[in-house]
Amino acid sequence: MQPQHPQPGWHPDPSKAPGRRYWDGRTWGPLAPDAPAAPEAPRPAPKKFSPWKVVTAVVGALIFMTVIGNALGDDKKPVFDFGGNGLDVEQTVDKEKHEAIGLCPICHKGQVHVLTRSFACENTIHTPKTCSFRVSKTILHREIPKEQVQKLITTGKTDLLHKFISRKGRPFSAYLKLENGKVGFEFEEKKPKSKKKIAAPKAAAA
Ligand SMILES: [Zn+2]
Repeated sequence: MQPQHPQPGWHPDPSKAPGRRYWDGRTWGPLAPDAPAAPEAPRPAPKKFSPWKVVTAVVGALIFMTVIGNALGDDKKPVFDFGGNGLDVEQTVDKEKHEAIGLCPICHKGQVHVLTRSFACENTIHTPKTCSFRVSKTILHREIPKEQVQKLITTGKTDLLHKFISRKGRPFSAYLKLENGKVGFEFEEKKPKSKKKIAAPKAAAA
């Protein structure tokens, strides 16, 4: 007579015989002779194979990877190469060959030139390198037009550029923006939040 059914799994024999029986949720299996003298050794209980544990672990791992993936690889995290890796082939700027498109917004001394792979301040090329302004010609599979870089260096921001492709393959739109001497994304506003324009606080002060 069972007082209460245990969880499916290996359990001490209900009739106290040495050994264990497998309770499958409905019936007891045959006595397993694996534990002859029970209070013997601190031997870890025989591992029960629990499919649920495996499933839980796998699901956990997937969730973990998704979280990490989102943190590192999705649209809004700075894993992009804006051109700061110095991959360009030029060792010097040839003013004939590399068109100058405007004054560098970072050092305000060098001209930004169109190089093979990037738009870069001449002071990032010539040694000593005294500047870091460089924008890759291609960012996230999207070509960055010269005009937009000109706009960036004169106004601090490009137009809204479409069809960047995130690492997960999703297209998205963003502005390129200069912030603290670095190029970054500014994302398209989803919906203009009903801007609470607190009306005329100045009037109150007056
Ligand atoms: Zn510069």
